Amino acid sequence: MSNPNRYSENPVELPLDGWLVEGHPVRGCKPCAASHNKRDQALKRNDWRAAGAAAADIRSHKQSH
Ligand SMILES: [Zn+2]
Repeated sequence: MSNPNRYSENPVELPLDGWLVEGHPVRGCKPCAASHNKRDQALKRNDWRAAGAAAADIRSHKQSH
């Protein structure tokens, strides 16, 4: 939670479990970047399920580095 205001453009749409869409992609890692992009796209259309899944991919991929 280093950047809690990151999605403040949609304050009303923030899910209760904001951490579900948190995740920090590793610079230079293609799978991370792809998941990060997926999450951004999902957040733009307020698709929390997809955003959460993409964020989970980012978090779990940390162990692959
Ligand atoms: Zn990665």
